[in-house]
Amino acid sequence: MHDRLKILQDYLGGSRVKRDCDISEHLVSGFGGTASAFYIATTVEELIKIVQLCRELKLDFLIIGSGSKIAISKEGINSLVIKNRSDNLKIFGVKGNVSRQGIGIEEALVEAESGTSLKRLAEFALEHRLGGLEIFQNTLGTVGGSLYILPIVREKAHQVKVLTSSGEVEVKDPYLVSKEDVIISAVFKLKAQEK
Ligand SMILES: Cc1cc2nc3c(=O)[nH]c(=O)nc-3n(C[C@H](O)[C@H](O)[C@H](O)COP(=O)(O)OP(=O)(O)OC[C@H]3O[C@@H](n4cnc5c(N)ncnc54)[C@H](O)[C@@H]3O)c2cc1C
Repeated sequence: MHDRLKILQDYLGGSRVKRDCDISEHLVSGFGGTASAFYIATTVEELIKIVQLCRELKLDFLIIGSGSKIAISKEGINSLVIKNRSDNLKIFGVKGNVSRQGIGIEEALVEAESGTSLKRLAEFALEHRLGGLEIFQNTLGTVGGSLYILPIVREKAHQVKVLTSSGEVEVKDPYLVSKEDVIISAVFKLKAQEK
């Protein structure tokens, strides 16, 4: 483990891969121990790269979103903990009418990277007058962590992009996402908010 973490540090830099790191501040409970190593992925590219490296090096890893459903014993965890901070949002596939008042969006697709908080996703949709995600406005959690554990978020998603256990980036039906997949982003098909 020590040697493999050293390889990772040499590759990504010692300031990015922190050794023997207290991760309690990254868990909603505020309780937790020390992780063998800790890395913050700030983009989806970094998330994919770190997971690929861990798999190549056969290093155990744990991805955390907002860390609301993760408990670590005070003895700590013998893994690389990856904090997912990829949080870009994109709107595309807009359908609507152009009038004197501007473009009236009737339907659109919103893609959220997996580290985006559900609250921010809901607010982004509402800013574009798109409805359907209001239920997320007051909830904790990221898109990735929530899709991983909650059927209601799968129900709302249209498609999910994952890194599969065989190392492919694939777009899947939300219900076909498996526990071995790393969630990269999700697309939500939203309709104009009802007036
Ligand atoms: C409408 C709604 C209502 C809710 N109400 C409540 C409530 O009343 N009480 C309550 O306690 N909770 C509630 N929740 C759930 C709460 O939002 C969860 O805490 C949240 O969904 C978990 O997200 P997280 O980012 O904190 O996940 P984390 O706790 O960080 O991770 C959860 C799991 O997902 C895995 N994971 C994280 N990111 C990824 C990824 N990118 N790819 C693969 N695996 C990943 C982790 O390894 C872990 O196994 C509600 C959720 C919704 C949507």
